[in-house]
Amino acid sequence: MTTSVLSGGPVHHGLPAHRVVLLLETDAHRGLGEREAGERLARHGPNTLPPAKGAGLLVRILRQFHHPLIYVLIAAGVITAVLAEYVDSAVIFGVVLINAVVGFIQESKAEAALEGLRSMAHTRATVIRDGHRRAVASEDLVPGDLVLLEAGDKVPADMRLTRLAELRINESALTGESVPVTKDEVVLPDGLPVADRRNMAYSGTLVTTGSGAGIVIATGAKTELGQIHRLVGSAQVLDTPLTQKLAGFSKILTVAILALAAVTFAVGLLRGHNAVETFTAAVALAVGAIPEGLPAAVTITLAIGVTRMARRRAVIRRLPAVETLGSTTVICSDKTGTLTENQMTVRNLWTPAGLYEVTGSGYAPDGALHSPTGKVTALKADQALRWSLLAGAACNDAALTCRDGHWDIVGDPTEGAMVVVARKAGFTSDQVKATLPREATIPFSSDRQYMATLHRDATKSPPGQVVLAKGGVERMLELCGAQMDADGTIRGMDRDAVLEAAGQMAGRALRVLATAMRPAPGADDFTVDRLPGSMVLTGLQAMLDPPRAAATAAVAACHTAGVKVKMITGDHAATAAAIAGQVGLLDPTQSGTDMVLTGADLAALPAEEFPDAVDRAAVFARVAPEQKLRLVEALQARGHVVAMTGDGVNDAPALRQAGVGVAMGASGTEVAKDAADMVLTDDDFATVEAAVEEGRGVFDNLTKFITWTLPTNIGEGLVILAAILFGAALPILPTQILWINMTTAVALGLMLAFEPKETGIMTRPPRDPHQPLLTRALMARVLLVSTLLVAGSWWLFHWELGNGASLAEARTAAVNLFVVVEAFYLFSCRSLTHSAWRIGLFTNRWLIAGVTVQALGQLAITYLPAMNILFSTAPIDGGAWLHILGIAAVASLVVAVDKRLRPAGR
Ligand code: ADP
Ligand code: MG
Repeated sequence: MTTSVLSGGPVHHGLPAHRVVLLLETDAHRGLGEREAGERLARHGPNTLPPAKGAGLLVRILRQFHHPLIYVLIAAGVITAVLAEYVDSAVIFGVVLINAVVGFIQESKAEAALEGLRSMAHTRATVIRDGHRRAVASEDLVPGDLVLLEAGDKVPADMRLTRLAELRINESALTGESVPVTKDEVVLPDGLPVADRRNMAYSGTLVTTGSGAGIVIATGAKTELGQIHRLVGSAQVLDTPLTQKLAGFSKILTVAILALAAVTFAVGLLRGHNAVETFTAAVALAVGAIPEGLPAAVTITLAIGVTRMARRRAVIRRLPAVETLGSTTVICSDKTGTLTENQMTVRNLWTPAGLYEVTGSGYAPDGALHSPTGKVTALKADQALRWSLLAGAACNDAALTCRDGHWDIVGDPTEGAMVVVARKAGFTSDQVKATLPREATIPFSSDRQYMATLHRDATKSPPGQVVLAKGGVERMLELCGAQMDADGTIRGMDRDAVLEAAGQMAGRALRVLATAMRPAPGADDFTVDRLPGSMVLTGLQAMLDPPRAAATAAVAACHTAGVKVKMITGDHAATAAAIAGQVGLLDPTQSGTDMVLTGADLAALPAEEFPDAVDRAAVFARVAPEQKLRLVEALQARGHVVAMTGDGVNDAPALRQAGVGVAMGASGTEVAKDAADMVLTDDDFATVEAAVEEGRGVFDNLTKFITWTLPTNIGEGLVILAAILFGAALPILPTQILWINMTTAVALGLMLAFEPKETGIMTRPPRDPHQPLLTRALMARVLLVSTLLVAGSWWLFHWELGNGASLAEARTAAVNLFVVVEAFYLFSCRSLTHSAWRIGLFTNRWLIAGVTVQALGQLAITYLPAMNILFSTAPIDGGAWLHILGIAAVASLVVAVDKRLRPAGR
């Protein structure tokens, strides 16, 4: 037997399927037994990929030193050591180390947060065990398991295909080839490369069409994907356009500041100053002015945003989506299941002979049919009704279950509703299966909009065949050339009557499906091409799918927030418009005809009018999945940032194109999830709105952090520059600057990331994605605070010196001034528009804790002898503190006035 190079096991594609079954000691029809599966699971381990090798601990720690600022610091540390300033040198190296540790911890935390999310995205697999169909977590698959695949699934393990129908798989995850591969069951020659093994399906690839079954031959790390995964490890995930932009910005800034420091050094030397002192000043300038905390703060803020969104049931799959959500201007949402509950109940039945009401609600088959003359007891009176119910029950893949008195359905809710109504009329699924055994199927797809099945008709003697079908009314009318009367006679179609009845029911927000049958079809009449015109319309079934409880409020919230909401559905225009009205998507006063567009309308629009019309309309009905991509592109052409929901295989291109592709976690296919940036675990539209809100909060907190941190850097840089230019003593030393920057960034600034969202975050328009992080008003505020810091520290330093303080005491006062002003200013930065008082001083407990820690740190650096030696500080008296607090209070007042006069709404 030949063996695979990588796994050393047998090459399964070279064996006939029955040999694979033998080899893996399983059964081609009954699958494994549960017991056996359990034992194998214990032996082989879970079907998960081992954690990616990633960078080793040492590399990850070393990476923390790979920043331009750290290079500057290390150089400064070495030179100070050479100059025999050992204490300073030690402090600098200490700071470098602490910085690395803090950076390492933060990075690990952010990564852990994202890693945790990834594990939330469980996938399930359908297996046959002990002869029964089961849904199991894909982690629990073992070699030998018989797995069923269908369109939209992610292949959960490596398997040899044993049975398949039109199965096509996108294997780009493995081979890079994005054109789906058509699978085949044949035995292939040994030694083919993975890309050519047509009788195999590989873990991590996506089923795009058809269905199939296969025997699992490898799980977890032993799969082809596992092997690749081990070889390459996983990529860094903490990058977004914003972090990249900021990293680039910091780099340019660093270079500019270094150049300025070098010029300063040169000027100082030319003026004949002491070389050591001038060098110290240049280092202080560089160290102070570079905003080193920025990239880390951005990453942390994003990571916290991701965690908050997950708590609200929106799982982020790609980090940039967090940014995009904050500037989303249009949400395109599915109707069925996202804006509505996807809990269908048939309310009305219509046949050419009459209209029937159905009582009862939910999936419990308690209820009855009523005609205008009373309860319907015998279906004989209306043959069309009988055949409509039969078509609904037999041309159907859903099953009704009852557990502990609770009725539920397995399968598509639309089909479930039809099973329930048939049962209310007296047809159980078992009966239907016995009298009308199914022989062939044309499955439902959103493009085709109908489903048809071929049955043996055992009620007839001699038994014949019958075709049954159900689907969207317009499509079914294309299939039907005749209709059935109450006594079962077949006569010409009355299209207008059918459309009139369907329109009436759709206008009441009901989802309407038509049913049809074809008696005694010919031998090869059951094909998609031969059906049109051949069938007999039997009736309409209209079902209620109530809007989700939270949808109306969420739509209203979006509108207040300047976010447009558009409904996209395959359903009828009247149904869609009625539901849209119920959730507040359509303004009843303004129901212009251009608010609702159908797929046909879209197809007929001239290209130049398309984007405009799409932008104006609120409801898109009878839309084919392929048209969604065009919708996204048109909206983007109009400058919109688009969030788009989707669940099917065909939605993937639109999800990928949208700024935020949103997949349904509960009912969506794996293909859609794979293409999405975000997955809703509850499928609810309100969750999209919540995610937008959180996205805005993330941006706010980033802006707050930057507004808070920049004045420190600018203030420190300017104060040093002034000292050098005036030839005066440095008001703060490099080591002291390091202390200020390091401690305040962690103890104070980082706490802004935990800031709760401001009220009113959803009453302002979306943020323009091209707008800079700091508006003009904020830039002005940053400069104002910088100026206050420079003026305050300069004045205090010289006042202290003039009143007999030592250089160390005066510097200690200046250092404390910087920190106290920053701490006061921190409270102001909690809101960009409201005053610190209005949001409540104690509403962010993290911040209070941080300020307390910082205060203890300031007492330590001021009064502990050891710290005095390390940082060249000295104890200061109550008078100095009074000055410090006084200046900080005045500065806060000035900032408060500035905020009042120029609220920096974003
Ligand atoms: P949506 O999910 O946006 O409501 P679908 O693409 O699922 O739209 O359905 C479009 C239309 O196809 C529905 O209005 C209905 O008439 C029809 N339809 C939906 N589900 C089925 C099904 N299981 N069998 C036959 N027809 C269906
Ligand atoms: Mg649907």
